[in-house]
Amino acid sequence: MCRHLAYLGPPVPLSSLLFDPEHGLAHQAWAPRDMRGGGTINADGFGVGWFPPGSDQPIRYRSAMPIWSDAALPALAAATTSGAILAAVRSATAGMPVVETAAAPFRHDRWLFSHNGVVRGFPGALAGPAAALPVEDLLTLDAPTDSAALFALVRHRLRAGKSAEDAIGSLVGDISGISPTSRLNLLLTDGERIVATTAGHSLSIRVLPGSVLIASEPLDDHPAWRPVPDRHLLTATGSDVTMGEL
Ligand code: GLN
Repeated sequence: MCRHLAYLGPPVPLSSLLFDPEHGLAHQAWAPRDMRGGGTINADGFGVGWFPPGSDQPIRYRSAMPIWSDAALPALAAATTSGAILAAVRSATAGMPVVETAAAPFRHDRWLFSHNGVVRGFPGALAGPAAALPVEDLLTLDAPTDSAALFALVRHRLRAGKSAEDAIGSLVGDISGISPTSRLNLLLTDGERIVATTAGHSLSIRVLPGSVLIASEPLDDHPAWRPVPDRHLLTATGSDVTMGEL
């Protein structure tokens, strides 16, 4: 379990996703509603990445501490606005380290990435796909976790010219083939579009005129929230959402 979300639309304060809603991400950290695959709370770190208005280079703030223990964050989040945000709270998979660099979002250039789930059989299960990576990618992993390794594989596919949809879709297909009980809910954004998958964990989407919010669990009881079926890939811009089977 982890819980994550991504938003595109008019600039909003980070706090409108993290702290203000009754079931915002900070609430989902200690009182998640949809627990699957072990874990009870998401206390092993958090991260938020956002694109400052007018910039295509995201800023990221992350920590190995529970989101509720960061006393400075509520005021910072209330004072920081963005129209493209990706945030996550972490429940470390057993055996994986609780360190700042294992907390999503992972970042490279204009990309922000999060993984909710587990690669069963890690690290052996990734040996095949990882063999295609330049050694520099392996030596510069953020952390020795399945999620950090998945991001290295995503980056490699993007560098090879795949679209974000193809990079994410092909990766989930490959890993599911190798390790079918893996859970692979992914989020990837470049600030202009979000690509998201459901493979083993919950995900919901709220589309309003001019904005889209995708989250592991609805943040509030707004009637526009819809569940995303399992094993789907969706691509969203601020004005358009397409969804298909993985
Ligand atoms: N396996 C990942 C990690 O340990 C993600 C964990 C999760 O989704 N709970 O960081």
